[in-house]
Amino acid sequence: MTEASPSVAAPSADPKVRPELRRFCEIVGEGNFSTDPIDLYCYSRDLAPIPYDLLYAYGMLEPELVVRPRGVEQVSEILRYANQRRIPITPRGGGSFAMGGTIPIEGGVVLDLCGMNEIVEINGADLTVRVQCGLNWRRLAEKLAGMGLSLLAYPSSGVAATIGGYLGTGGGAGIGVPRNGVAGNSILSLKVVLADGSIVETNPWDSWCFIGAEGTLGVICEAVLKIAPLARQRCFMYAFNRLGDGIKALESLARLRPFFLHFLDRGAAGFLNESDNAALDEAAMTIVAAFQGTDRQLAGVSRQVESICKDGKRYPEDTAEHEWENRFKIEISFKRLGPTLMLQEIRLPFRFLEKAMLELAEALKDYRWGVQCLSSDHGSVCLLIYALTDERDKKRFYKALSLARVIPRIGYRNQGTVYGIALHNSVHLARIHPRSAVEAMRAIKRRFDPNNILNPSKTVQTRVPRLLVTVSMLLMERVPGLMRLGLSMVKFLPRGLIRSGLRVVGGQLR
Ligand SMILES: Cc1cc2nc3c(=O)[nH]c(=O)nc-3n(C[C@H](O)[C@H](O)[C@H](O)COP(=O)(O)OP(=O)(O)OC[C@H]3O[C@@H](n4cnc5c(N)ncnc54)[C@H](O)[C@@H]3O)c2cc1C
Repeated sequence: MTEASPSVAAPSADPKVRPELRRFCEIVGEGNFSTDPIDLYCYSRDLAPIPYDLLYAYGMLEPELVVRPRGVEQVSEILRYANQRRIPITPRGGGSFAMGGTIPIEGGVVLDLCGMNEIVEINGADLTVRVQCGLNWRRLAEKLAGMGLSLLAYPSSGVAATIGGYLGTGGGAGIGVPRNGVAGNSILSLKVVLADGSIVETNPWDSWCFIGAEGTLGVICEAVLKIAPLARQRCFMYAFNRLGDGIKALESLARLRPFFLHFLDRGAAGFLNESDNAALDEAAMTIVAAFQGTDRQLAGVSRQVESICKDGKRYPEDTAEHEWENRFKIEISFKRLGPTLMLQEIRLPFRFLEKAMLELAEALKDYRWGVQCLSSDHGSVCLLIYALTDERDKKRFYKALSLARVIPRIGYRNQGTVYGIALHNSVHLARIHPRSAVEAMRAIKRRFDPNNILNPSKTVQTRVPRLLVTVSMLLMERVPGLMRLGLSMVKFLPRGLIRSGLRVVGGQLR
């Protein structure tokens, strides 16, 4: 949002703001809201390249306003007013979650939380930090490192990802997670604004209610996180020519509880060579691991790592250090290769990794593709699967979109699941949880947000029924040209008709 966009007039007088919405502008004040069509367009998208025609077929309503609150009190006033008027609110952090969580599919107001980016207090004695939700993880990690302190868990997308966004999406994988567990383990308290505007401060146990709720139950405004003294660290990097050897090593390394453990497959190593001028062997698997501890512990770990990775080629330690330093950039640099980068994430147990990798190779043989894997906790891995395509070539692009059906199926066949629900994966909800659990989640949503204003038609509400999504994806895969034509015709239908149609076939729209 431009700080002083030409569209910004005195809040109560701006003719572009519908009278009912002017109260939001008064709450945040001049320079902190926008109705500029370019801003509205940008705030209607996330990282995923989803075509307009497809969003239209979802019955998407356009947002009318973006507001950027500066503190918890403003968020509270915004939600209280929105709740009284039944106006949809879509919370947004860095927009790096590619599952449509920040797409304001029901219109209304986008709540850009990136202006709430203060480090409120660092308590080195108690080893805690209180931060606002819109701060990005990289800034926090660097600030703490400068003081000899460290976070317990943070995402590799930390250049963009905010505190609220990572916690909101569950924080199930990332840097520190193999050693310290998922991000929720490091939460002491959250300050959350509920749909009716009330402000609650949680304890570590009821914090879990909001972690992974994808902005549907409340807006996380502040978090108190446990931190640790910055430990000494050693990095290791090995290339394996045989996938099976690499996976065996990865599993054993995970048991040593590294702070950071990831691998790149052959395709992803190639991507990194091209996008970042790296000089990696394009081996079946390149593993990078970082361990923390005292000098004595690290010497012991080093011996164990050497023995575990005896079938691999060891890179010099400074190359391994470089990849650790690069940890926030690796995937972001892939975007340069495009023109369009498709990303799908699945999570599965180590023991199914080899089979899943072979199935991915078969499914993606027509693409230039690569896999990056972040080790999670409890013997599982999170795979980020990248495929290059070109959205200007619509037919090819629609075919690539059908990977959103193919890749989760590989996950399910291998005891895994999709990573993140939001808009695009809400059809998978019934596959992930038993019916009773889904009903309980929906009951919690109704209890916390009876007027359904917070990120409506997402996560526990399946907008397009599963059968319709499956059929559409199959058509995209088999006859992408026809599907593209069909979707381009849909936009001539009135939105109201599409929305009614989706409701009739069982879609849960607001
Ligand atoms: C290259 C790359 C690397 C990634 N690495 C990781 C990784 O290591 N680990 C991992 O878990 N994920 C990873 N992801 C996924 C994504 O980056 C994370 O989910 C990220 O933490 C989202 O943060 P964000 O601020 O961008 O959230 P957004 O995309 O802005 O929002 C995500 C969801 O959270 C909700 N939300 C945002 N802020 C709040 C708030 N304050 N209160 C309540 N709800 C809120 C939104 O409504 C939305 O549903 C990666 C993605 C990419 C593209």
